[in-house]
Amino acid sequence: MGATVTDDFERMWADLAEVGRSASSGGYFRQPFLPAERELAAWFLDQCTARGLPVETDPFGNVVGWWRPTGGIVRDEMDASGPDSRPLGDGLSPRAGVLTGSHLDSVLDGGAYDGPLGVVSALAAVDELRSRGFVPSRPIGVGVFVEEEGSRFGLACLGSRLATGAVSWETARELADRDGVRLGDVVEGGPADQAGRGGLLADVGAFVELHVEQGRDLVDRNAAVGVASGIWPHGRYRFDFTGEANHAGSTRMEDRRDPMLTYAMTALAANKQARLAEQRATFGRLDVEPNGTNAVPSRVSAWLDARASSEEALAELVGVVTRQATERAERDGTALEVTAESVSAAVTFDLGLAELIATDHAEGDWPVIPTAAGHDAGVLSAAGIPTAMLFVRNPTGVSHSPAEHAEVPDCLAGVHALADTLERLAR
Ligand SMILES: [Zn+2]
Repeated sequence: MGATVTDDFERMWADLAEVGRSASSGGYFRQPFLPAERELAAWFLDQCTARGLPVETDPFGNVVGWWRPTGGIVRDEMDASGPDSRPLGDGLSPRAGVLTGSHLDSVLDGGAYDGPLGVVSALAAVDELRSRGFVPSRPIGVGVFVEEEGSRFGLACLGSRLATGAVSWETARELADRDGVRLGDVVEGGPADQAGRGGLLADVGAFVELHVEQGRDLVDRNAAVGVASGIWPHGRYRFDFTGEANHAGSTRMEDRRDPMLTYAMTALAANKQARLAEQRATFGRLDVEPNGTNAVPSRVSAWLDARASSEEALAELVGVVTRQATERAERDGTALEVTAESVSAAVTFDLGLAELIATDHAEGDWPVIPTAAGHDAGVLSAAGIPTAMLFVRNPTGVSHSPAEHAEVPDCLAGVHALADTLERLAR
């Protein structure tokens, strides 16, 4: 190993820096199955090839490069009670692999770190383990899941949901982007029974995703890395407000049935309720008809992203917002229909795994913190795969924006932490 891990990380980071980057905002547009994201996918395959990691893909576009024990011999073909063998957990086959990785797609005008940091760190961790002379006794996989952000087809964690069977291909193939292109038009796909645990994830006994922190807990704790305890339940809800299109000049104010007004009050109510309950509610996307400056709109569709500390609290939050919006619609002479587009249950990560990862380090234990952001790790955890997440400090706490950031020394601390974790799990 000639290059140091620092060179290695910085070289890979530089490879990605300009791909899909907007010259005007500095943010990234890496929507799934479009040229920038496909360039990153090809880059990932090249990185696996350069490291001699044979690649497996599934019909949805998810990819795993495997570092297999020497000679491709798996543990249950060897002496399963080797001197350094240690179980990953109850009931796991000794041949079960440890998967790490993340995603390469971004939100619209997103940051550089959300997703790619986990993929680059996973490759760098493999290099670091090899430079340590480490030989895994279980396969170590470096994976990339497609469409984690849901920025094109609207369903977050689409790749991992398809890989685990959490969403069926029959449903997913009909998802359409804003231009009407269906998922089924861009990937081969396949029936649900070809996915699930029998597919790409069949040999995965544990998953560890490294991710930039999307908040400031690690800043407050003065720690470069932390371990996730769980993910808040969250959901996306479409609010369709309908009224009557009319002339902005000749229609008297009292004669209007203006759905924008009902929406505006709903956005204020959502913000207030979330503040009162210490939860999160965001309207970040609007679709207006006819969308003319001089027209009272006929329809406003608005998407609510809501997150809360428990499933009961989430249901309560969305219920209160819906009730207040409905009451307001009656006063405005408009109509409201609410559709839950996706709801993700609370995730509690494997506590034994988190403890194994977080404790007994030279520099002390790493903090264990919750997150309100969704991840593929949550989907794999819900599918019954013991799962953990590592977070790398983000000094601004800002994410899903070009301001998202992590300092290089913290990124390198993340690579070391991931390498230590993989070593603990795969020795
Ligand atoms: Zn992410």
